[in-house]
Amino acid sequence: MISDEERRRAVAELREASTGAYRHVDALDVIAGSVGVEVGGKFGHEVENETYAALADLIDRPTTHIDVNEHGRACCANCGCDDWCLADRSRYCPNCGAEVVG
Ligand SMILES: [Zn+2]
Repeated sequence: MISDEERRRAVAELREASTGAYRHVDALDVIAGSVGVEVGGKFGHEVENETYAALADLIDRPTTHIDVNEHGRACCANCGCDDWCLADRSRYCPNCGAEVVG
């Protein structure tokens, strides 16, 4: 699962790339590096496949639903976080970032 910190790092790298900061580097290598894909020692198609998958993971925010833990408190079904805001119809889990659905 992609953390919010990893999302922010990827966004910062991609925004930096959008300024032309890496214009002398292969675009796939820049994008792969931005989303955390190691390039070294891999074939081009492997880097491409892993980069597409990493981009899809970044865009596709995981979902969760509200469960009830052993203390009778509302909690995230993904990570078990029982922060008060989950009981207050929060749209996202404050711990894992999953979107609350259902
Ligand atoms: Zn969670």
